Amino acid sequence: MRIAITSDIHANLVALDAVLEHAGPVDAIWNMGDAVGYGPQPSECITRLCEFGAIWVAGNHERAATGAISTDEFNPAAATAAQWTANRLAADERAFLDALPETRIEGDFTLVHGSLRWPIWEYLVDFETARAHLSLQQTPFGFVGHTHIPMQVTELPEDRQGCELHRLADGDIVELGESRLVLNPGSVGQPRDGDKRASYGLLDTDARTFILRRVEYDIASTQKLMGEAELPHWLIERLAIGR
Ligand code: ZN
Repeated sequence: MRIAITSDIHANLVALDAVLEHAGPVDAIWNMGDAVGYGPQPSECITRLCEFGAIWVAGNHERAATGAISTDEFNPAAATAAQWTANRLAADERAFLDALPETRIEGDFTLVHGSLRWPIWEYLVDFETARAHLSLQQTPFGFVGHTHIPMQVTELPEDRQGCELHRLADGDIVELGESRLVLNPGSVGQPRDGDKRASYGLLDTDARTFILRRVEYDIASTQKLMGEAELPHWLIERLAIGR
């Protein structure tokens, strides 16, 4: 099976469509949450993912968009965008987002937005969070999102830190071998690693590989829609710098 691994689409339909076209025919989409929030087309992104039958776990932005959590912990721009998103969604879209689970297991893979310790909140960014996550991961491999930075965590039981972390760049291939792994495909709709291109991964369960890919998309057209929606300026500007 060829599976597109996406996360943090953030209502950026132009970026999502660029990724889906770049990926070509896939057997499935596994999405690590935050499909809404920040961007201008939340309903359109939900519709597109549903058209493809995406398998999906909730992020903090899905929960904020439905009012299931408060936006007190969000920065002001994120809270403004979350409120804008909540006002845009139809009742059936809110119900759909509310029903999304926080974790899922698909074969050898565990899916979660943040970490298995705090599924919608924790940023898996260092040895401590990685160890805590791995201790709870019951499958050999896992996917996370939330940080908007593509990354590979490799468990090293003999190592003092217990694991190794490194960032992934376009074209990097990860072999699914003996080591337990956690993989972050980066963000489709709001990359934050200094590379403004949309980020996603392609999992090939026959070849046992995960390939990180970056894709150019029409950033200006998403920015135009955000301007028309009067979304916060910083959210518009950051797309062009990948921060
Ligand atoms: Zn996000």
